[in-house]
Amino acid sequence: MEKFYDVVIIGGGPAGLTAGLYASRGALKSLLIEGNASVSQITLTDIVENYPGFPDGIGGWELVEKFRKQALKFGLEMMTTNVKGIIKIEEKTAPLWQVSIEEGALISQALIIATGASWRKLNVPGEDTLIGRGVSYCATCDAPFYRNLEVAVVGGGDTAVQEAIFLTQFARRVHLIHRRNRLRAAGVLQQRLFQNDRINIIWETVVEEIKGKEGGVEELVIKHLPTGEVNNLKVDGVFIFVGLRPNTDLVKGIVDLTQEGAIIVDQEMRTSQVGIFACGDCTAKKLRQVVTACGDGALAAYSAQLFIEDLKGERYPR
Ligand SMILES: Cc1cc2nc3c(=O)[nH]c(=O)nc-3n(C[C@H](O)[C@H](O)[C@H](O)COP(=O)(O)OP(=O)(O)OC[C@H]3O[C@@H](n4cnc5c(N)ncnc54)[C@H](O)[C@@H]3O)c2cc1C
Repeated sequence: MEKFYDVVIIGGGPAGLTAGLYASRGALKSLLIEGNASVSQITLTDIVENYPGFPDGIGGWELVEKFRKQALKFGLEMMTTNVKGIIKIEEKTAPLWQVSIEEGALISQALIIATGASWRKLNVPGEDTLIGRGVSYCATCDAPFYRNLEVAVVGGGDTAVQEAIFLTQFARRVHLIHRRNRLRAAGVLQQRLFQNDRINIIWETVVEEIKGKEGGVEELVIKHLPTGEVNNLKVDGVFIFVGLRPNTDLVKGIVDLTQEGAIIVDQEMRTSQVGIFACGDCTAKKLRQVVTACGDGALAAYSAQLFIEDLKGERYPR
């Protein structure tokens, strides 16, 4: 028989786990499904310095473990599997949602989508064929392979700069390649970057091709945009941090999305579908960080709670 929940949360990152904490603590029958083919982005970083309450920083994995422990304490059910699809199955006073997973299906009155985002590719020749052999999207995972070698980082935002600095703990030289003549990263990160003499910044330049053989990446073909000059840069690896793609394929055609594919939510984290709420990096927002994902998650769960209490006629005057 299909199991029935008040709320099913899809995603086990900071947004989903905070939603799970609030929903279970609010006495909703709640299930959180975390993917088995993907992980929370924050588990990819070795140190989180800007989540309040940890003045010495905390590892990304450790932080998520703490979120998980706290949510489980309040009775949140959790499952590790991939959600394959969502279907609206009934609409009397409000729709019911069927969530298909590898093991069958579940029914829920409300859904909270917290599926995060994935890194964008450069889409240049050589990128796909050399993934895992010199092309990487995670410095924390792969930096130790580049001890005393030379690498490039592509991008100019917080993550590119932070990861370029981190890579200098291993690589002897890090080239930061950025297509503009200034960085988007936070001031404090820029200061650390400029002070680091292992980092060489290559301004107003794009990567046109990644060349390598079986053994891995050997060089990048780079183009200086103002002059059109093309050069080869010898590196042993390239780390790509050029933006995000929200993971929203599951809800395409069900809720309204922006052109970039982010879920449009109102101030209460409601989507365009009654009973579907969304939070964190999969939504349209300016600041994609742990602290904002947690805030979104709390609000999404609270809104879901009010929605369900209304349906059950249990809502207290607040
Ligand atoms: C390298 C790196 C460094 C970062 N450093 C910082 C930092 O220092 N400070 C900071 O505040 N932020 C940092 N961030 C950003 C931060 O990681 C994100 O803002 C945050 O993780 C967003 O949380 P989320 O819960 O929305 O998404 P995520 O953490 O990405 O979690 C998404 C969840 O959805 C699940 N999922 C996706 N699709 C499915 C599916 N079909 N079925 C089931 N589950 C699914 C995934 O398995 C995962 O559990 C960093 C990000 C990266 C990549």
